Amino acid sequence: MNAPLNPAGTESGEGARSLSGKALAASLREGTRAAVEAAPEAGRVPKLAVVTATDDESSAWYVRSLVSAAGKSGLLHEVVHLGPRASTEEVRDALRGLDEDTSVDGVILQTPLPAGVDARALAEAVPPAKDIDGANPLSLGRLAAGLAAFAPATAEAVIALLDHYEIPLRGARAVVVGRSTVVGKPLAHLLLARDATVTVCHSRTRDLPEVTREADILIAAAGQPGLLTAEHVRPGAIVIDVGTNPTPDGGLTGDVAPGAARVAGALSPVPGGVGPVTTAVLLAHVVRAAREAGIREGLRG
Ligand code: NAD
Repeated sequence: MNAPLNPAGTESGEGARSLSGKALAASLREGTRAAVEAAPEAGRVPKLAVVTATDDESSAWYVRSLVSAAGKSGLLHEVVHLGPRASTEEVRDALRGLDEDTSVDGVILQTPLPAGVDARALAEAVPPAKDIDGANPLSLGRLAAGLAAFAPATAEAVIALLDHYEIPLRGARAVVVGRSTVVGKPLAHLLLARDATVTVCHSRTRDLPEVTREADILIAAAGQPGLLTAEHVRPGAIVIDVGTNPTPDGGLTGDVAPGAARVAGALSPVPGGVGPVTTAVLLAHVVRAAREAGIREGLRG
């Protein structure tokens, strides 16, 4: 367990503590592996399915690494490659097939999707009970209503990281920069559910630094490299960097500029912060979906 951190503590002058996600990710993966090992006695091994319809190399890399992580955790997995010219109907048919396939527990519809497909309709076609990355708007709606739902893994990973470092959320002032349905909005709901006071900023927010300096917990999810600098950060604040922006040398950089670390009390690194936890949360969601499917089967039987 890590020493608790104080949000909005005083400036230490020693630079921000690094909130690595690696140990948390490893322990989540271990939990998944243990659950999968117990699965044969419980009936069957949980299975992840990923639908892709793109030639995009970074997307292909992500799917390979996800499937490899699933395999290492003992999960079954399947990738349905539809190619970059797939139509809305073809993608919808693939999702329908996975919905009907009782061996599949978790379904991810990988982005980007081909230009011209109806992305909104396809998000709605991800089966809610298997929607382990919270892509279906029903999942976001249920989350907003405080009902059980799969949150997008990245949003849940941010909360898991804050919990891992014992950062208190109740009553804390949290500012989320970014309002996408993948990260910003679901994260705002998760923070509200934990009794934080939440402000959501976006590309039209006036005087961003003035708003972000209010934050005990500042979360950057804008996809803009170096957007948040020292002037955006209240001394001692906890800063979580969700941004994963490709660099020309093939690496990744976050939304938080290096200078912010002089002011922040703690900062999650990119890479090695939210990213590995996100993958681990996705795999944990497959096990959860399998358990919930088992409960539904039991109720039916
Ligand atoms: P998005 O482009 O859908 O949304 C970006 C949001 O940021 C928008 O709401 C926009 O209004 C806001 N924004 C953009 N520029 C801004 C500015 N100058 N000031 C204030 N707000 C601004 O992006 P997304 O899908 O939500 O992803 C955000 C970032 O998180 C990206 O870097 C993405 O790669 C990363 N991401 C990381 C993970 C992970 O596992 N670590 C997963 C998903 C996304």
